[in-house]
Amino acid sequence: MSSPIDLVRADLRDFAGYRSARSDKLDGDVWLNANESAWPNSADASARVRRYPEPQPEALRERLAALYGCRADEVIAGRGSDEAIDLLVRAFCVPGQGAIVTTPPTFGMYAVSARLHGARVVEAPLVDEGASFRCDADAIEACVLGSGATLVFLCSPGNPTGEIVPFDVVRDIATRLEGRAIVVVDEAYQEFASTASALTLLPSMRNVVVLRTLSKAHALAGARLGVAIGDAELIALLRRCQAPYPLPQPCVDLVLRALDTDSLATTRANAAVATRERGRLAAALEGAAGVRRVYVSSANFLLVRFDDAQAAFQRLLTAGVVVRDVRAQPGLGDALRITIGSAEQNDRVIAALAEAVPA
Ligand SMILES: *Cc1c(COP(=O)(O)O)cnc(C)c1O
Repeated sequence: MSSPIDLVRADLRDFAGYRSARSDKLDGDVWLNANESAWPNSADASARVRRYPEPQPEALRERLAALYGCRADEVIAGRGSDEAIDLLVRAFCVPGQGAIVTTPPTFGMYAVSARLHGARVVEAPLVDEGASFRCDADAIEACVLGSGATLVFLCSPGNPTGEIVPFDVVRDIATRLEGRAIVVVDEAYQEFASTASALTLLPSMRNVVVLRTLSKAHALAGARLGVAIGDAELIALLRRCQAPYPLPQPCVDLVLRALDTDSLATTRANAAVATRERGRLAAALEGAAGVRRVYVSSANFLLVRFDDAQAAFQRLLTAGVVVRDVRAQPGLGDALRITIGSAEQNDRVIAALAEAVPA
């Protein structure tokens, strides 16, 4: 099995990154090496923020490793999974030459990061099979072979489709692309799914990287904390490519509290409610006039096709409910994406869409 480092940009393989004041493990009780203020800001009740934060606090990495069932040296934490996507593109694509493969309709940030970096985006669209979307392993393999792409972004559960890429398909793609490309499995919504995470592939498949985030089920979108999990050597390389102080101290403190036993129990209970509400909302919408299709979802949203998506969007807006218009995405010209809310919020969606369509 080849090392994923072989796929890293040749000019970055031995890149050491920025040496911050935190890089040298020195000991002392008077710290005058980083030009920090000697006095805390009067607004800073913790009096801790005057210091630059640990780049990757050990306690945080241990907690995240326990949460995701991996080793601490297999995790890198950053400013949301958005940063992890960006780091992967920067590490694996030569600017102006490299390429990534995406499977539209899918999350927009893969293409945005690639474009900003001057990397080509090659598309292996999900196959629309009427009732569901299928990830096309043959097309993905052909795209990689044809373009020399070093990264494949799979989104499972998919945004905006809500559908799982079956575990066997992820394994098949990663096996076929061994030595050619890293397969990134973005599991932003895995907490709402009942199928196995691609994390279980990790010990055996060194070219798989899994993205997880605290932005969705953990209700911490504003704290910006997401992770990439993968081969320890690869993670160490990504850390060298990362900004010197990516994790703000107040966010780290909040995240550590959010990952204690009590908070995790609440998080899991809320995810269970969202999952239940997803079933109720789907059933209600399936019977509503003007609804063409409600896709089976393993995430905290539903993708819904309408006879007249514009009218449905307007009716919801008139009722004060804002949903995501995804009509610009390929093959989704009649679709809206509706996030699962509280029971009361979902009732507002049902009421707005159940109202008789004006003749
Ligand atoms: C919401 C979302 C994310 C989360 O991004 P963060 O930067 O962690 O907030 C990642 N991937 C997908 C597919 C998403 O929908």
